[in-house]
Amino acid sequence: MKNLGTAGYKLLTPGPLTTTETVKEVMLFDHCTWDDDYKEITQKIRRDLLKLAQVEETEYTTVLMQGSGSFGVESVLGSVVPKDGCVLLLSNGAYGERAAKMCSYYEIPCIHVKQDYNKTPDANGAEELLKTHPEITHIMMIHSETTSGILNDIESIGKLAEAYGKVFIVDAMSSFAGVEIPVKDWYIDFLISSANKCIQGVPGFSFIIANRVLLMESKGRARSLCLDLYDQWAGMEKDGKWRYTSPTHVVLAFEQAMKELEQEGGIKARHARYQKNMDTLVENFENLGFRLYVDKAWQGPIIATFLYPEGKHFDFQEMYAYIKERGYAIYPGKLTDADTFRIGVIGEIYEEDVLRLTEIMKSYMEQA
Ligand SMILES: *Cc1c(COP(=O)(O)O)cnc(C)c1O
Repeated sequence: MKNLGTAGYKLLTPGPLTTTETVKEVMLFDHCTWDDDYKEITQKIRRDLLKLAQVEETEYTTVLMQGSGSFGVESVLGSVVPKDGCVLLLSNGAYGERAAKMCSYYEIPCIHVKQDYNKTPDANGAEELLKTHPEITHIMMIHSETTSGILNDIESIGKLAEAYGKVFIVDAMSSFAGVEIPVKDWYIDFLISSANKCIQGVPGFSFIIANRVLLMESKGRARSLCLDLYDQWAGMEKDGKWRYTSPTHVVLAFEQAMKELEQEGGIKARHARYQKNMDTLVENFENLGFRLYVDKAWQGPIIATFLYPEGKHFDFQEMYAYIKERGYAIYPGKLTDADTFRIGVIGEIYEEDVLRLTEIMKSYMEQA
């Protein structure tokens, strides 16, 4: 059985995404979890993630957490915000709204500012709120809002967090390792991402880059046992042991994916590849008559939302099936107010894939 390309398509979705054969191959080994080899793999991953985040081990640390990306976000919110804390949540998409829902489940006071999905959260408005709401202890926002593809300006909000002495939490799920994020320089205290996005591993765990001092302070605050961030960290920090069963195959795949990221030339090179994919995609699709939903100044290199050409209606399912038969799986839109679809360009995807997709889309439109 070869690469389950039996179905024969590449994913143009923002995670899970198309991984290399070599990443998939290392999962053929059933690794034991208690021995030193395995613990060292965990520790190496934790150290290497700090390098990607451009931070020092003395100031930051990494926690790996079982589950998908949302488990990591929920682990941070539910573990680091104290009972008398309050989160200022700046959202412009479904992932921001999911964070609001988490706050509500945990009864964490949250001032939720909703911005239009095609605009980045407004720093001036946020500053006003910081002045009038001294009870705010944490600021949270999303970096790459995968709902639309917008790349939000977290740097400006980080500066505000620093100026007003607030803890800054960033969901960088779909951008970390695809876009350079100098975590300390942008005053980020907790950054969350996951195995199956720009690192190009497979799904199964999330990771948190955490400010050490703030993580220490959060000891005993967690509202959930399984998602207790401090407790998960304490075990790992001691000897690389995961609390509860670790996703061994996923960890091996992640280790390999980290090697391949380095071989590619690190984040800079990966970013350049994604950006090239995106530029080609946008140019070609605009030529076909599609319009980008997000203003080009804010469009990120991860995923793009397209509006259908004026006066034309496409059936997404039909289009999806047509493209899938020809080798690519695209993504439905997530906007409620417009007919859209999304194309992700991360993972083992190159310009030639974007060119092939353009041809498929062109022939679909000619016959539609
Ligand atoms: C993928 C993603 C998540 C996590 O989603 P899961 O389905 O739980 O992995 C969170 N935030 C953003 C911005 C994402 O792109």
